[in-house]
Amino acid sequence: MLKRLLLLIVLTLIGVSIALTLSFRRADLSVSEAAVTPLPAAQTNSGLRIAVINTADIETPEGIRVRGGDLSQAVNGPVSAILIDHPNGRFLLDAGMGRDAEAHLAGEPWTLRALTNMHLYTPAVDKLDAAGVGPLNGIILTHVHWDHVSGLADFPGVPVLLPSAEQDFIASGNEMGNLYREIDRERPIRTMTITYDNGPYGPWDRSLDLFGDGSVILVPLTGHTPGSLAVLVNLPDGSRWLFIGDLAWSQKGVQWPAERPWLPRTLADNSPQEVRDNLVLIHKLMRQHPELTVVPAHDPISQAKLPTL
Ligand SMILES: [Zn+2]
Repeated sequence: MLKRLLLLIVLTLIGVSIALTLSFRRADLSVSEAAVTPLPAAQTNSGLRIAVINTADIETPEGIRVRGGDLSQAVNGPVSAILIDHPNGRFLLDAGMGRDAEAHLAGEPWTLRALTNMHLYTPAVDKLDAAGVGPLNGIILTHVHWDHVSGLADFPGVPVLLPSAEQDFIASGNEMGNLYREIDRERPIRTMTITYDNGPYGPWDRSLDLFGDGSVILVPLTGHTPGSLAVLVNLPDGSRWLFIGDLAWSQKGVQWPAERPWLPRTLADNSPQEVRDNLVLIHKLMRQHPELTVVPAHDPISQAKLPTL
């Protein structure tokens, strides 16, 4: 009886190990030939500029960031805030790690801390001060996970723009919204609701034209969280940038396209199927628009193409 039980345990362990190993192997998502509705011609504003503020790097093997990536290759993934500076308003896209970054990380679940090897740099608030950038009109969040909201604590009173689905996600008590709720408790956050009331934009059936001139467009890009969003920026030099938050952690996620391996996907993604559908959508959009650069929030290669503050 005991022998049988031991054999069963050993076989189960072998089975789990094989399944886990296979879950890291490359398995690209299937992409149909059907095109997506292309983006409309770019409209811009001659006074618009954007700049990256890298507040930290998180070192992770490429094989954790994307299914089929190299598990032996460590990648320094930036944790950034993006400055969107427009003549009619100044916004940050995500807040990066703030002045209390170490305390914020210490408050996260042990599983997350165990997987996070972080190198901290100057927080966005201090970089903006040093560069003489004036006050912000708001902070747009691609989603409310800890590494995108830590810096919010450094901008008291600055409105935070979120779709109602993301506000509901925070209110649901989900563990991934812990830090947002903690910051909100200590210093109430002024939340403003994003409503996508500017109608269709390319493949999206709804959008928000932030400044009303077609230069900065917000669209829903859900799956990683229920209210995740993407921001399209049309710069005066003709380049177009699509910030996709954590839909993918690596450029390869949209190039191949491929999702995260099973373990990080299970820990991080609210709806893996929505993530898959949106990865394929972005992949097709990239194929149809060579002038478009897609920027995953933690991808060092695409972010290196942008000016820094
Ligand atoms: Zn993130």
